[in-house]
Amino acid sequence: MPTTMPIPRPSHKKKEGAQTDLFRAQMLAWYDTHARVLPWRVSPSAGPCFTANPYHVWLSEVMLQQTTVQAVIPYFGKFVDKWPSVHDLAMASSEEVMTAWAGLGYYARARNLHKCAQVVSRENKGKFPNTLEELKKLPGVGDYTAAAIAAIAFDLPATVIDGNVDRVISRYFAVTDPLPGSKPEIRALAAGLAEGRTDRPGDFAQSMMDLGATVCIPKNPRCDLCPVRDGCAGRAQGIAAELPAKAPKKARPQRWGLIYWITNPAGDAVLLERRPDTGMLGGMVGLPTTEWADRPVIKGRKKPDIMDYVTDRYPGLERVRDNPGAIRHTFTHFDLDLIGVVGKAKKGFVAEPGQFWHPLAELSEIGFPTVFKKFVNLCILK
Ligand code: SF4
Repeated sequence: MPTTMPIPRPSHKKKEGAQTDLFRAQMLAWYDTHARVLPWRVSPSAGPCFTANPYHVWLSEVMLQQTTVQAVIPYFGKFVDKWPSVHDLAMASSEEVMTAWAGLGYYARARNLHKCAQVVSRENKGKFPNTLEELKKLPGVGDYTAAAIAAIAFDLPATVIDGNVDRVISRYFAVTDPLPGSKPEIRALAAGLAEGRTDRPGDFAQSMMDLGATVCIPKNPRCDLCPVRDGCAGRAQGIAAELPAKAPKKARPQRWGLIYWITNPAGDAVLLERRPDTGMLGGMVGLPTTEWADRPVIKGRKKPDIMDYVTDRYPGLERVRDNPGAIRHTFTHFDLDLIGVVGKAKKGFVAEPGQFWHPLAELSEIGFPTVFKKFVNLCILK
């Protein structure tokens, strides 16, 4: 009988003492010449007396949650132009903030952003707190965002772990257990490199993010350009590109519904609604839709006539043209298919509470979430 030999576990012990010193020195030297230029940052060449504006760091970090740097840059510029300080943002109306945020997604972030600005402006005289504990008490500021603000804006030795840092740590230490189960291990390893270290904590945190974004990239890491390649266990074992391992994804659920493009009797305005503050796309302006159900809306009908599904809800509606098409949108937790319905309100048409007519000529003023923008474009272009 052949014996089963245990597979040796790759070595990824916490780097101690001199090794940590070397790792940090290599990362900081690399950052001095390779830091990404980003509008919310202070360049490392500015010197130790210059730290980033906490308002800018906080704003960018909230925007960067689940969103790419490239997508965030124009929004960041728009926000700081419109609201140069946290007091200005606090004084804006929630409609203005939601409109400026439209298209960036994850709209609960915008509601919390506004609440947080009001708390900092009102209760803290516009100053962001400079401890992790106090930062975490702010609306919408979780462990990651608090650590990023503490490190980048206040140069505190906080452990900052985003997706880029997950990847660098998994590879450097050859962590082969899959995410998300390996998160505590990754966190402990990252903390071993950061905690208690007062030599440029903010720059070190940003160097880790930048290495993951530009060198230790998801596919085909560019190890030849990496400042810490000599100590990298993932590279030495030839498994870097396979890390971080990920648990198999569950199939994304599907939802279905109808979306309406309803014009007024004069044909110069379209029916919109402000969505309730809680729930998906809360507080945003959109087109009316049915509920997003977990089964197809028109399944099982031989010759489905979509208008049959509409007239119950809007009796005073006249068909204008056939189905203009459907749209598909992917949210974090589900895919959504919405079948479009185009109609024109007859005299006596009754809009529902929360719905209003908006002039077609001023449609560009509305900051639609992407899912609605797709259908608006479909209707305008047809
Ligand atoms: S050597 Fe390669 S795998 Fe290791 S940290 Fe650098 S880029 Fe990533």
